[in-house]
Amino acid sequence: MSASASDQLFARAQQLIPGGVNSPVRAFRSVGGAPFFTRSAQGATLTTVDGRELVDFVCTWGPAIHGHNHPRIKAAIADALERGTSFGTPNPYEVEMAELIVSFFPSVQKVRMCSSGTEATMSAVRLARGFTKRDKIIKFAGCYHGHSDSLLVAAGSGALTHGYPDSAGVPAAFARETVVLAFNDPAALDAAFAANPGQIAAVILEPYIGNVGFIRAEPGFLQHVRAATARAGTVLIFDEVMTGFRLSRGGVQELEHIVPDLTCLGKIIGGGLPVGAFGGRAEIMDHLAPLGLVYQAGTLSGNPLALAAGIAQLRLLDEVKPYARLDALGSQVCAAAAAAAKAKGLPLQTPQCGSMFSLFFNENPVRDMPTALASDAKLFGRFFRACLDGGVYLPPSAYEAWFLSTAHEGPAIARACDVITDAIAGL
Ligand SMILES: *Cc1c(COP(=O)(O)O)cnc(C)c1O
Repeated sequence: MSASASDQLFARAQQLIPGGVNSPVRAFRSVGGAPFFTRSAQGATLTTVDGRELVDFVCTWGPAIHGHNHPRIKAAIADALERGTSFGTPNPYEVEMAELIVSFFPSVQKVRMCSSGTEATMSAVRLARGFTKRDKIIKFAGCYHGHSDSLLVAAGSGALTHGYPDSAGVPAAFARETVVLAFNDPAALDAAFAANPGQIAAVILEPYIGNVGFIRAEPGFLQHVRAATARAGTVLIFDEVMTGFRLSRGGVQELEHIVPDLTCLGKIIGGGLPVGAFGGRAEIMDHLAPLGLVYQAGTLSGNPLALAAGIAQLRLLDEVKPYARLDALGSQVCAAAAAAAKAKGLPLQTPQCGSMFSLFFNENPVRDMPTALASDAKLFGRFFRACLDGGVYLPPSAYEAWFLSTAHEGPAIARACDVITDAIAGL
């Protein structure tokens, strides 16, 4: 039998691209097997280069909340393309996008656009350090904030599934400036502040974690973090690159009634093109160059094509108000999986909020990185492959969140629930 088109491409890719991929989790290392290559994506469906159609629960890791290749977003990009791809000067989309972000996120008074979530978190941390004139930051184990040096310590996502949450190449001196704590542990936070008086520039967190599988903050935890950071004069950074615009119009901060000092955005805000943003209190943001001493810049920042896509995506969110529908879809998948696991006698946890959730093969509720890592990842790998054989593409790791779009409504979700049920029955 001749090799599939995906296998042929992967063989060529591995000669030229480290591991054959441009982002590690795509290599399927933690679930086994070789990755498929996608030819096109439409609605809830990916079409592989071999012509297979897969129901997609990754949604390009979050951005595709209206499904892939939505006609309104395509039209917005086409319209922007008529005017040119990049100007290197201010452009009108930047002002429109800033106005939109501020209207979705009341905690954001001023905002700076960049080209990725990594840039947003890296720049927000630098800004917090410049603003407070302090060096140390606190992060939480399992939270992934992109791949900059200070933040790639005990990080989730691809870093975690390769078994090296601490990357090689990060100087120990940098890592020492990053204090890592357990998520959902208010006492540990209090102890860290007590041990480092007047030294913590920022606390950064995913308010609900999406990068070690999906984990919600327990009631009161985020409120505790807000109060503790306010007392210490520490900048509270909510990394809502995944959750922003996805779990509600105004992210987790809206759901939990928290006003962080800075917020990082990405993914959905680019409508599938590369965009990030960070914003917050004007008093802090005004420390950025050219007003202040904290330098941050980008040749393609505020790119007209990317912002046109993002603006169309955000306007569409306000039109279709998808959150109740997405929550019902998420519940439907989790309930189907839970019923199948119960029938099979398998322990399964299904934490969910709206269109983000995870299936953890685990006896106990998952509340932090160690409890997430106690899940049966081998079993998840078999489950993943059974679903893929049945035409359903899940995140290729036991420690990533699943994502839904409005395009999943109807036949896609029904088919996916059947495949998931059969896959669990066959484990
Ligand atoms: C994806 C992600 C990032 C990094 O964004 P990139 O665009 O991949 O650089 C940062 N923080 C969180 C919470 C993310 O999910």
